[in-house]
Amino acid sequence: MIDIKDLSVHYGSQDNSVLALDQININIGKGEIFTFIGPSGCGKSTFLYVLSGILRDYEGTVLIDGRPVDPKQQRIGLILQNYGLLPWKNVRQNIVLGVKIKGQPREEEYFDYILKQLGIDQLLDRYPKELSGGQQQRVAIARAFLLKPDILLMDEPFSALDAISREEMQELFLKIWQDHHVTTVFITHSVDEALYLGSKIVVFSSSPGRILGIYENPCFQRDNLRYHDEYYQMSKQLRNLLDKG
Ligand code: ADP
Ligand code: MG
Repeated sequence: MIDIKDLSVHYGSQDNSVLALDQININIGKGEIFTFIGPSGCGKSTFLYVLSGILRDYEGTVLIDGRPVDPKQQRIGLILQNYGLLPWKNVRQNIVLGVKIKGQPREEEYFDYILKQLGIDQLLDRYPKELSGGQQQRVAIARAFLLKPDILLMDEPFSALDAISREEMQELFLKIWQDHHVTTVFITHSVDEALYLGSKIVVFSSSPGRILGIYENPCFQRDNLRYHDEYYQMSKQLRNLLDKG
């Protein structure tokens, strides 16, 4: 589904350039959830900018279903780290924006369901500046989910939420994923979150981002996963790798 070959990204001009991503190779299969962990500044957001088509100046090849990234062709749900809400549009307008641009029919029932689940059904007439960080994050999540995308790209989407809300959102995400099996790239800096959500886990090195390891997650979709020995082992292995990287 997503094939990435020798992807490198530089920022800045030739004599003053910063290498942000270094020779990334990865294949993401249809219906999988890949969680990416890595330290701050290692290029996680940059990676998502490339996959979403926002950043086009890179080396290597990035193909989605055999074709270059093109948000006009592919239905991509994107949740940016800074939420990406339009300040002059209210919550309702921000949420339906993606569906509107795509010319998709509005699914009222699904709209109501998502908003209720996200706890933002009372906020529809507010503007982004009248919302807390966590509420803005929920609006961005609603917009991406409502699109029923083929690919869901999420950049630390639950980071502004308190612990309880974060767990609720993780549950909701998995529930929706079970219904639609949307191919997902999920960026996080939490080993726990990576292990809870990912079918596969990718570990990035510190800057410039290189891939230190790609792991099948033995804990994926397991009940009470934190009680299994594999969880403990995996968690230890990932933390070790991050410490060294
Ligand atoms: P992460 O999301 O993992 O924290 P980023 O992808 O945001 O990392 O950034 C990767 C690296 O690229 C960092 O060293 C950052 O300082 C640098 N960087 C990001 N955006 C720019 C930019 N527009 N110009 C120059 N350097 C940038
Ligand atoms: Mg980032």
